[in-house]
Amino acid sequence: MAFDYDLFVIGGGSGGVRAARTAAETGAKVALAEESRMGGTCVIRGCVPKKLMVFASEFPAMFEDARAYGWQVKAGAFDWPAFRGRLHAELDRLEGIYRTMLGRSGVEIHDARAVLKDAHTVELAGGATFTAKHVLVATGGVPMRPGIANAELGIVSDDIFLMEELPRSILIVGGGYIACEFACILNGLGVEVTQYYRGAQILRGFDGEARGLISEAMLDAGIGLHLGTNIVDMCPEGAPQVDQGTNSDALGVEQSGAEVTGDSGAAARKRIWVKATNGHENVFDHVFFATGRRPNTDGLGLEEAGVTLGRRGEIEVDAHSQSAVPSIYAIGDVTGRVELTPVAIREGAAFTETVFKGNPVKADHDLVPSAIFTQPEYGAIGMTEEEATERGGVEIYCTSFRPMQHAFAGHSDRVLMKLIVDREDRRVLGCHIVADNAGEMIQLAGIAVKMGATKEDFDRVVAVHPTMSEELVTMKSPVRTA
Ligand code: NDP
Repeated sequence: MAFDYDLFVIGGGSGGVRAARTAAETGAKVALAEESRMGGTCVIRGCVPKKLMVFASEFPAMFEDARAYGWQVKAGAFDWPAFRGRLHAELDRLEGIYRTMLGRSGVEIHDARAVLKDAHTVELAGGATFTAKHVLVATGGVPMRPGIANAELGIVSDDIFLMEELPRSILIVGGGYIACEFACILNGLGVEVTQYYRGAQILRGFDGEARGLISEAMLDAGIGLHLGTNIVDMCPEGAPQVDQGTNSDALGVEQSGAEVTGDSGAAARKRIWVKATNGHENVFDHVFFATGRRPNTDGLGLEEAGVTLGRRGEIEVDAHSQSAVPSIYAIGDVTGRVELTPVAIREGAAFTETVFKGNPVKADHDLVPSAIFTQPEYGAIGMTEEEATERGGVEIYCTSFRPMQHAFAGHSDRVLMKLIVDREDRRVLGCHIVADNAGEMIQLAGIAVKMGATKEDFDRVVAVHPTMSEELVTMKSPVRTA
């Protein structure tokens, strides 16, 4: 059977774009459909604008430090509209680069929503249909709101970059990556930040000591972090309240949530009254739900085409990213594996190797380093101390200290460096760094950990002095064993 294309990619995020380009470069006839802006979550409403906001938010602390270092500086006010204009100009530039790269590789771009009609047929929003030998679904994820009444009054991460003005106060609900990063960013930009996290400590799943240190730093920085607290009721200020009681079960742990579309910020511009599980009632300019993301699979025709979806709506795929339908593959957040941009990119490249280069490659999901851009940052790879203790046969090397740069400026902030070491074969099983620029450090330490370096390999490297990371090669004795 003759197909219109060798490959039709649905979704122009990091993973889809990489797969489309690399496949087209093999000579394959490739199309890519994107219903929104090219670049996807990472470029348009995630990693890139977030990191630029991190940079913007760090200046007040730098101005303060500059004074301690003898500079006569006076911080002015933060001009959000000016920053936002530059931010969006930069996103436009990056989107342009994505489009140019796709065009140069010979990929045909369809700026439309695409859905599956069957195992080899895709239909665009305008009604046009195309056949393809292979279809790759790379539609990413969408933010979720909790299933409480009036949740649509709250904003989600997509909306943050579009706000016309910075709120004076915000309640952030959640304790994961997005909640903690934005608590620090908005606090740095001068917004009065309150954060409710339902669990005992933020950043569940990460190293306990690192989580504790970040949580302390956030509190010290002035963030109103309330642990063991959730939202039970919300409505526009002055409107009749819908009392849902304080039964946290009613909030649901894995709510399916409402899909976020359009500018939900418009509704949220009215101030919002909120009641918390601890009985506190407050009014905020915005409520920001950072309560997780779910795979973007609704209405794509996947199940009708025979694709199997998991409990959270994720596309079930094998190690080669192939779904239950042999011609349909899926990569990135839509598969609910490791929800990180560089992983989606690796999965896209592995897909092309496997399907278009006759070289079956499995994307490697083991020992993936990641960084959380809180202030201070947290970089991590491998086992946490809690996981290591459960497994046993490990030594924990750890140090926490006031870095020279901060101590001089009179701050009490500490950094943390931790190595988890196998007692028998001496391999470093985990590395955790909480410090300024920990994201940069963990990328490099991650190479050694991924290579299987032992503690003694670390120790054979001469320290670079004076740095914070030299502590990674100078820790002499374990602080704990398990
Ligand atoms: P996370 O899953 O990290 O965090 C979701 C948070 O919301 C958790 O604290 C969770 O609590 C809480 N939560 C979930 N449901 C409810 C509810 N009904 N009521 C109250 N709280 C609730 O999701 P994020 O959206 O922060 O991030 C999604 C993914 O995106 C991350 O897992 C990560 O892979 C990726 N990401 C990576 C970044 C990076 O690399 N720097 C930055 C941002 C995102 P609990 O812990 O109790 O379940």
